[in-house]
Amino acid sequence: MSGFSFNLLKITDPQFRLGRLIFSRNKHEKILDTPNCFVYTMRGSVPHLTPDNLQTIPVDALGITLEHFLEAQPPSSTHFVGGIHKFLNLEDYLLFFDVRDSGKLQIISFNTDKFVSVVTNQGCRKVTTEEYVRYMNIYNPDIFASMADLIPVKNPSLKRVKKSVDRTLNWLDETLEQTKEGIHVFGVVTGHDKHEERVRSAQETANRNVAGFVLNGLDLDMTSKERLDLMKISLKHLPKNKPRVAYGLGAPGLTIGIDIFDTSYPSEETSLGHGLTFLILEDGIQNEQEKFINLWDNKYRTDFRPILDGCKCYACQNHTRAYIHHLLDTHEMLATVLLMSHNLFHYLQFFKDIRKSIDNNTFTNIAKRFISMYGNDIKMNKAEIKNFLF
Ligand SMILES: [Zn+2]
Repeated sequence: MSGFSFNLLKITDPQFRLGRLIFSRNKHEKILDTPNCFVYTMRGSVPHLTPDNLQTIPVDALGITLEHFLEAQPPSSTHFVGGIHKFLNLEDYLLFFDVRDSGKLQIISFNTDKFVSVVTNQGCRKVTTEEYVRYMNIYNPDIFASMADLIPVKNPSLKRVKKSVDRTLNWLDETLEQTKEGIHVFGVVTGHDKHEERVRSAQETANRNVAGFVLNGLDLDMTSKERLDLMKISLKHLPKNKPRVAYGLGAPGLTIGIDIFDTSYPSEETSLGHGLTFLILEDGIQNEQEKFINLWDNKYRTDFRPILDGCKCYACQNHTRAYIHHLLDTHEMLATVLLMSHNLFHYLQFFKDIRKSIDNNTFTNIAKRFISMYGNDIKMNKAEIKNFLF
């Protein structure tokens, strides 16, 4: 059984929100300060890290995906008595479940009124609400998102979008009816690119007894700004006092009032041999700072600095760029362990810093950080980003 509450501490204009999600694990109260993220996992494990490594990083909450456990149906882990926290040896963390992997949403076979299609390493599987909730009641995560009928095509018809909203709401009703007490359900807001359907989905979801909301931008094949504009329509119709999780928006989602993000970015960069170096220092104004360095590059062979000067992570406190380059070059597994230790630490530090800026009303610093991080990604020039943010 898990206690759960969300306190909204501050809203600023633009819509930065500062909040606190309080949950209890093993009779201890734990806090997830927001904005924050659910740390991405593959099959219940943070990529490149063992639970021991993970303890060196200030992680509070992890996102787990049912899709990764469905090679057999029902998943063998549902036969384990004691719940998913114990099965994964993640007993002190808040665990958030969803059906599909927000980091790798693949277009697969269709959904119907009864099931969602998912991808496993044994091929495509179908999951019904009844099965999903049954697994969740056994796993006993802190929170899970209800099933959603996402439409991974561009410009779907209004009829298709209406069907998606109806299905998602029906699935939510079934979920709320069947979920056992103590597990908290977040409703997924849909509506694709149709404004009136986004409003209907948000209003109807908000009318249900959900603990929070998920906004999924992954099926919207458009620019970040267009995606954010659509999300804003939904957010207008959601109550302010419940947390909002978003997929596929990245940190600019902070500006429209998102509290929790998905986060496969640090692990993807780690797999490429990249160490994150984007700007997070309070007054370190360097707009042109590199977003990451590629440790495969031979120029780091004799570079005895840490990945990032001043970083307090285990890797930066104890190892040099040259050593990590050497480990990559010799295909030693420790290379990605050290890189991930840094990348995840740095990413979480970014959220910590953003929270501090919201608290202190130092928004110029946030703008500078966004420009440093997203200058190229969100396909806007710096002046446009400034305009967009403020
Ligand atoms: Zn570091």
